[in-house]
Amino acid sequence: MAGIYVHVPFCRQKCRYCDFASFPDKIGLAESYMACVYREMAMREGQLKGYLFDTLYIGGGTPSVIDENYIAMLVAAARKHFSLAPDAEITIEMNPGTVSASKIDMYKRSGINRFSVGLQTANDKLLADLGRIHTLKDYLSCAKLLKGQNFSADIMIGLKGQSLDDISRSIEIAAQSGASHISMYALTPEDGTPVYSDYLNGELPDSDEVAEQYAFGVEKLKECGFERYEVSNFCKKGRESRHNMNYWQRGEYIGFGVSASSCINNVRFTNTFDLDEYFKCIISNHFAVIDSAEITPPEQRDEFVMLAMRTAAGVDKAEYQRLFGLSFDGEYAAAIAKNAKYIENSDGRLRIRDEYLFVQNTIIVDFLKA
Ligand code: SF4
Repeated sequence: MAGIYVHVPFCRQKCRYCDFASFPDKIGLAESYMACVYREMAMREGQLKGYLFDTLYIGGGTPSVIDENYIAMLVAAARKHFSLAPDAEITIEMNPGTVSASKIDMYKRSGINRFSVGLQTANDKLLADLGRIHTLKDYLSCAKLLKGQNFSADIMIGLKGQSLDDISRSIEIAAQSGASHISMYALTPEDGTPVYSDYLNGELPDSDEVAEQYAFGVEKLKECGFERYEVSNFCKKGRESRHNMNYWQRGEYIGFGVSASSCINNVRFTNTFDLDEYFKCIISNHFAVIDSAEITPPEQRDEFVMLAMRTAAGVDKAEYQRLFGLSFDGEYAAAIAKNAKYIENSDGRLRIRDEYLFVQNTIIVDFLKA
């Protein structure tokens, strides 16, 4: 199975921490942009004839900021050009400040069956500090409209002035609002964003404080009935994101739109981040790829191990043997011995112990070879 990703690069305003491809001042170009995405899909149709796609993920940016008819046409275009499984998981990201009953109704009618809502925090002051356009009240209205639907809420930790009480309240509110999946991410101060100045000024929690917030959040999520299945992702039983699971299992995926990346047949390629360049390429019937590289077998093995070690299930050693024809225990004997304290190596799987999952990078690095 494989996944489809579509990037919608429009937002109402730029959040202070954002370094994604999103263009608040170009929202007037949404109609032309979506026409290019439909065309890009048509251009890829021949190459992807043999693929059955199990997921479609509409991300951004803020896909919910544009006219809902463009989203309905996007789902229809995906179905027209590709084989999308009848029970495919179709997700749209939504900013609570851009949602209405009629939009959600149109999404559901077009086949969207999963919603990812950016709550971030239930504290209005922290939301304003982040430059988010929504308030807690907007989130609660959005959750009410999604009652009975399969939806996920995003929560951030590591924010300036954020307390454990804030985190606890955000998780409780997300859980009580009906979310069946919660993603909990630490703020990353990216160079070039306004939040980076906060970081340089020492105004953000340090790594020990963020680790404490994360451990606290994990416990709170557990109390609320959410099991961790990946370092940043938690859900009720059976509500894992199929789209993200495909990434973590090194499945294939195709991306459309500005900045979207793809991995097909062990070739990774990425579209331009420049909106004008994207338009020019697609209008002249050229792909907008700026970077393409074949993933060598050692790199494939590194990716397989690195991605699996981020998940609670860990590495399936039999699958490793099947894919690469090598014994996992033999290949990684030294790394396993060095990290014995941090890992569990039993029942055909190698996994990082729960309490060390947040610092997985320092462990995973010993398993990388390419
Ligand atoms: S809503 Fe998301 S993509 Fe848009 S500016 Fe904020 S963080 Fe960036």
